[in-house]
Amino acid sequence: MTSGDEVVVALDVGGTGMKCALVRPDGATVHAERHATDAARGPEAVVGTILDVAEGLAGKARADGLTPVACGIAVPGVVDEARGVAVWSANVGFRDVPLRDLARERLGLPTALGHDVRVGGLAEARLGAGRDAGHVLFVAIGTGIAAAHVVDGSAAVGAHGAAGEIGHILVRPDGPPCGCGRPGCLEAVASASAIGRRYAELSGTPATAAEVADRAADGEPLAGRVWREAVEALADGLATGQALFDVATIVIGGGLAQAGPRLFDPLRTALHERLTFHREPRLVAAALGDEAGCLGAALLALDTLAKESR
Ligand SMILES: [Zn+2]
Repeated sequence: MTSGDEVVVALDVGGTGMKCALVRPDGATVHAERHATDAARGPEAVVGTILDVAEGLAGKARADGLTPVACGIAVPGVVDEARGVAVWSANVGFRDVPLRDLARERLGLPTALGHDVRVGGLAEARLGAGRDAGHVLFVAIGTGIAAAHVVDGSAAVGAHGAAGEIGHILVRPDGPPCGCGRPGCLEAVASASAIGRRYAELSGTPATAAEVADRAADGEPLAGRVWREAVEALADGLATGQALFDVATIVIGGGLAQAGPRLFDPLRTALHERLTFHREPRLVAAALGDEAGCLGAALLALDTLAKESR
């Protein structure tokens, strides 16, 4: 490795774990490590770990003859990217944490703070399944459903840091209650958790969304019904997304995307049925897996660096 090679310190902080890496400007990961978030310790302890890990990574880069040039941190919840503040997060417990400035002070490096799904979308749009599409909607379906609208490599943040909350599109007014307090949101019907919950409710047997998909494929009528209902709701949500954004490609990530053709085949058909004059987007599976957030955090940091040096 040539001495002086530039890298970005990147962290993707989730409710249970942190994915951390040193990433080159071209998106290649030169070193990766994982740490526990252990959110039960409280937000201050989590912030302490984030700063320690980031500092450790910068030190590791220097020890390896690399030059850390920036730091990118992705967190879940509501994120004010302009102010660099983690405004609110249910699973990590952040309330108005000025994480960008804290990291910048500790590391002495230009730092960017981003939203986990928005930076994941950034990475998929620039390096992954949405490459060369220009207009991309990235939809992460797991415990919840969130999205990022990426245009020419830049993800819309929104006026209040809450753009892309496609999981809270109202799809079934008389549907199950959502975590946000309203019934019938897309994620209350079609997230991986919602699919498992619905199946358990109807069958009395607990199951994961993956198991529901398996049983549906095996011809079990109840699983088939639950899976179909979720796919229909997802198609409703995606059709709304397409009406709003007119994207070239919709990239589906998160745990549910692992169902592969069992998700994508019926979803493509259901979406096709719902579109009238809108052009049909390409519907593809995410390509970067759970590295997307970390790579996206690095890209966001590089973007910030480019802006600051302009
Ligand atoms: Zn909701």
